[in-house]
Amino acid sequence: MASTHQLSRQHLVYSLDQTHAPALEIGPGDRVVLETYDARTGSIQRDEDLLEHPHPAGSNPATGPILVRGAEPGDALCVEIERIELAPQGFLAVKAGMGLLGHLAKGFATRMVQIEGDQVRFGDLRFPIRPMVGVIGTAPAGVGISTGMPGPHGGNMDNRYIAPGSKVYLPVNVPGALLGIGDVHGAMGDGEITFIGLEICAEVTARVELLKGKRLRRPLVETAEYWITTGDHPDPAQALRVAAEEMVLLMQERMGLGFAEAYMLMSGAVDVQICQCCGPGEFPVTTRAVIGKALIGGGR
Ligand code: CA
Repeated sequence: MASTHQLSRQHLVYSLDQTHAPALEIGPGDRVVLETYDARTGSIQRDEDLLEHPHPAGSNPATGPILVRGAEPGDALCVEIERIELAPQGFLAVKAGMGLLGHLAKGFATRMVQIEGDQVRFGDLRFPIRPMVGVIGTAPAGVGISTGMPGPHGGNMDNRYIAPGSKVYLPVNVPGALLGIGDVHGAMGDGEITFIGLEICAEVTARVELLKGKRLRRPLVETAEYWITTGDHPDPAQALRVAAEEMVLLMQERMGLGFAEAYMLMSGAVDVQICQCCGPGEFPVTTRAVIGKALIGGGR
């Protein structure tokens, strides 16, 4: 019978790595209620706390890792994000020289913001919360990867479709999968242009299923309305191309189409979008391609 497990934010990792000891072991179908830290591990509490002084352990920690019994390389996890409960307060911030407008950002600034129901309060202004999971991934097969980085194992994808009600399909690369989840954003616009979102502590409830023999090249996201492929690369055009290639393959597999038909349909009906393009330098841009289920169908 499926169980529900709790995992506190004391169990943090700054990389997804097969050498990390599991913080929790669960069975397929189990539910986990886990606390996540904000991307700066609680070091920003007041407007006077600036991003000038990075947390020594790293950024974007994930809670975990969670060992899924029976998971083997060549399987997939389906992680359904059932609920995200935000802490009462988070922050937005500017770091000198960083982000899409880094050339204009001459100094550091932090603004603590409050969560009031379904609204964010930014001084006298209000805008809607849009809770999402920034980091979700499994341990890669080789050396560990920082929780600041995205990749075929998932990681720091900053995809705002990874939200309550979504299912995230992740490749299993090592025995037990070693799942980590963290870096919740209370809201984030596509692009994440300062290089951070509305960073905040949270409690995430997720149900983890094991799909035996379901080999995946990269993470996929399913919502009530859409199937979403993912991409990342330091070059923005190549990052968009990775998500688009995944989509044209998905359409051929699921819809029984040839390449030319799938490619044409993409041009008519698929959105290719930026998740995060905040840099700096060679930091990967993360992307997605989004297709309606009305066209591609439901099912796994
Ligand atoms: Ca992030």
